[in-house]
Amino acid sequence: MIDTHAHIGRDEAGEVLARARSAGVDRVIVIATTVAGARDALDIAEQYDGIFASLGIHPHEAGGEEAGRVDELRPLLSHPRAVAVGETGLDHYRDYAPHDAQARLFDDQLALARDTQKPVVIHTRAADADTVERLKAFDGTVVLHCFASPALLQTALDRRYYVSFAGNVTYKNAYDLRAAARAVSPDRLLVETDSPYLAPQPVRGKPNEPANVVHTLEAVASARGDDAAALAVQIDANATAAFGL
Ligand SMILES: [Zn+2]
Repeated sequence: MIDTHAHIGRDEAGEVLARARSAGVDRVIVIATTVAGARDALDIAEQYDGIFASLGIHPHEAGGEEAGRVDELRPLLSHPRAVAVGETGLDHYRDYAPHDAQARLFDDQLALARDTQKPVVIHTRAADADTVERLKAFDGTVVLHCFASPALLQTALDRRYYVSFAGNVTYKNAYDLRAAARAVSPDRLLVETDSPYLAPQPVRGKPNEPANVVHTLEAVASARGDDAAALAVQIDANATAAFGL
């Protein structure tokens, strides 16, 4: 199966990806949040089978010099293993950068995705309405990563966005996320780890890694009343379609 969203450093990639493979996780999309990270992600993707890269600048970076470097991603996106733009979006929760700077950086990357015909991987936190508004004119493929905003669900369903669930769907009190996982149509469902963050319940408190996506798959399957193995096959096909793998 596939982990559709992981942050992996170059030094740890060998060990982390070997453990993923032993757990049956044979494909991983490595997500960049800076230009240097984009180069690293492509290096990892070149070195290991089944590894792809999504190239973007995180909204946390919007206030700094990284924000002026979106055009440097353009040539990197022509790499055969570069499959998406992102993660990009808006974060008004951590609020590390002014909202107008975040919006500009987001718009620049939506334009880049449009030009390069790539899907976008969206990070949104405490910014549901603004995120939805900026995405309105974007007619490409949208992946809502680490879905945690039940208020966004109806728009996601209406606009046929891919909805990707992370380890937080396994947490004891995450009833609303499991309800969302039930509501997403089977062909729009994805799972991810968002490693090294958000380790799922059985390994909660430890650094997360792609091998753990199996726990998230099991939680989503059980919430939906689906067979986990069958759902893994479905999600693998969804990821193949969403990212053009
Ligand atoms: Zn991420």
